[in-house]
Amino acid sequence: MKQAWISLILALLVFSPFNLARAQEEQPDGPVYIVRAGDTLWGIAARFGVLMDDLANENGIADPSRLSIGARLVIPGFEGLSGVLVFDTAPMGENIESLSQRYDMPLEALLRLNRFTSPDEAYAGAQLIILQKEGEEQTPFRGVATLRAGQSPMEAAITHGVSPWTLLKENHMRAAWDLLPGENYYFLSQDRGDQSALPEGFSGLEVNSLPLIQGRMLVLKVAAPEAVALSGQFHDRALNFFRLSDGSYAALQGVYAMLEPGIYPLTLEGSLPDGTPLAFSQRFYVQDGDYLFDPPLVVDSETTDIQNNEAENEQWSAIVAPVTSEKYWDDLFQSPVPKELSDCFPSRFGNRRSYNQSGYFYFHTGLDFCGRTGVEIYAPAPGRVVFTGSLTVRGQATVIDHGWGVYSAYAHQSEIQVSQGDWVETGQVIGLIGETGRVTGPHLHWEVIVGGVQVDPMDWLTQVFP
Ligand SMILES: [Zn+2]
Repeated sequence: MKQAWISLILALLVFSPFNLARAQEEQPDGPVYIVRAGDTLWGIAARFGVLMDDLANENGIADPSRLSIGARLVIPGFEGLSGVLVFDTAPMGENIESLSQRYDMPLEALLRLNRFTSPDEAYAGAQLIILQKEGEEQTPFRGVATLRAGQSPMEAAITHGVSPWTLLKENHMRAAWDLLPGENYYFLSQDRGDQSALPEGFSGLEVNSLPLIQGRMLVLKVAAPEAVALSGQFHDRALNFFRLSDGSYAALQGVYAMLEPGIYPLTLEGSLPDGTPLAFSQRFYVQDGDYLFDPPLVVDSETTDIQNNEAENEQWSAIVAPVTSEKYWDDLFQSPVPKELSDCFPSRFGNRRSYNQSGYFYFHTGLDFCGRTGVEIYAPAPGRVVFTGSLTVRGQATVIDHGWGVYSAYAHQSEIQVSQGDWVETGQVIGLIGETGRVTGPHLHWEVIVGGVQVDPMDWLTQVFP
């Protein structure tokens, strides 16, 4: 009798179209992604590496333009996995085993979802697909808050325990003044648990931003339980480590603005006082800086002569090669021009350039400020003048050493008012704006060079390094 009842119930379940449909809704075959503001079906398909048509068919979507926020999409191709999919950026100092623990996600699922074929694909800055248990989703954008009157983005960042840099980046802002009181911003919690894949001898590793970006800064911080001797290399550049007041170590390095986006190795080596060796290596993703292409420029052909350019580049590299072990700055860099000109930029750093009908082989190595001939130029931070002279491209130029491999440089001046070897203080007049060298009019071309590589000077006006 009891068996008959069970058979009847089973039959009802199996043959009822209503129940069938419901069962499918409740237990989708495969993990789901919850649509967020700004998502497109094409974008979602691309991020999961599936065809848009397959994604549309699987979810019965007839019109891809009518995707509603909060809709649950089953991602085809991952049968057997269940849960909610979110994205995150792979942090530094992790490997696939530690990522699996960090995200509480079986190793097999991590490999399958991310299509990893070898363990070293978990490079720092990689966009990871993470599977979370239903109801326990923690999307990377954990919160939204409003900037209060009188509160700086810096203070807001500290409130949420994130770096100001991270806060700006997550909100797609370039500078602190892009965020105004009353405006909403997103913040991302950095509470990611212990760094479990750290090699022995290191007690902490930190990088300023992931992924790294062309033309921007790489700042590494290393903490060790005792004094260590450290050296390192990022791609083709040797890293120079210096001790911070809290006992940890930092290295500053520019990421070359024309470096092909892709994956590059970082290695750290060192030894403890007793000779025990330390080593760490991981690959890092470098992202495109999305620099603009300037309209083709026409200039005096002498200034685009390849031999002239190469000779000047070599001389320039040699000037900024020495790494002074003292750090002369300890705050934001100040604008090198008078206040009324300090946010007038005829050309930004990194812009791709073509001269006299060349290809776009060149990039803009500095930040240009507007200005008339004769306007004063100020030292942005303390330092020692290591070069003054006349160059083909840069015209009348000055270079200041700020220590730790950080230099600032001033080009196209009408007058240089310091000499090699001079010590300069923040705000001191060092020269006058002009139009010497390769120019189309008077302006100040301002470079910041870190570890031999030009970086976006704007970062030095808005962030305190290290
Ligand atoms: Zn310039």
